Amino acid sequence: MTQSLAGGTPADSTSGGLPAGTAFGAMPAVFVSHGAPTLLLEGGATCEFLSHLGTELGRPSAALCVSAHWETASPAVSAATKPETIHDFGGFPPALYEMRYAAEGSPALAATVRDTLAAAGFACTVDPDRGLDHGAWVPLKLMYPAADVPVLQLSIQPRRDPAHHLAVGRALAVLRQAGVLVLASGSAVHNLRELRWGGTGPQPWAQKFADWLDRCVSEGDIEALVDYRARTPEGARAHPTDEHLLPLYVALGAGGNGGASVGGRRLHANFTHGNLAMHAYAWG
Ligand code: ZN
Repeated sequence: MTQSLAGGTPADSTSGGLPAGTAFGAMPAVFVSHGAPTLLLEGGATCEFLSHLGTELGRPSAALCVSAHWETASPAVSAATKPETIHDFGGFPPALYEMRYAAEGSPALAATVRDTLAAAGFACTVDPDRGLDHGAWVPLKLMYPAADVPVLQLSIQPRRDPAHHLAVGRALAVLRQAGVLVLASGSAVHNLRELRWGGTGPQPWAQKFADWLDRCVSEGDIEALVDYRARTPEGARAHPTDEHLLPLYVALGAGGNGGASVGGRRLHANFTHGNLAMHAYAWG
């Protein structure tokens, strides 16, 4: 299912940095689940959803992708002019390794991200070489297949808690007004030991956690979300480690209104490989 979304107005180019006075409208902050690397080969409901999502959102001035697959001790933003496609997985069909996503980067916007985070008290490294990992390019290839939107990545900090990522997101909320799409990419339920390749439906614990996440997102219950392990019996099983949920908190923060509690919208719900949730949400 896909809800209607306010989006940016098409324009020919971005000047980089925070493009003042451009034709781009404000963008929401979005969390998507990127699933297994084979998502692009598998097709199905989530592929269809992501294929429509880019059109629903409209074309942003740039996409700042917060991927679960770029982990650093403190925030880092990618600044490559032409970021390479990183095939950061092993043992999958050769067709996956031949895929490329040729979006350009935006060193100017990377500097703006660094400065914006610095103003909020977060030291942020600019990485001139970092390419696009599959958490970024898999959904983007479906959302913007022409690769005509500049893409940057922002890292997550697996040793920091959800509240840290929420604060990072809040600092970045201003970017949305310049038409930047904050695209968080992780997984709503992610326990690789509980996948059922070729299996059916989610088990009750996975469905319960996804339902809880749905409810908290829709009610804007930030207090519960940042404390998800203590608040839900299923939290630790749904996420044995935090890294695939941490991007959600950046989107939650970026989509909020000056730190006020803001309800999000569920854009999509699906499970693949048994217990791998493919849910997507938007804020703002
Ligand atoms: Zn992943």
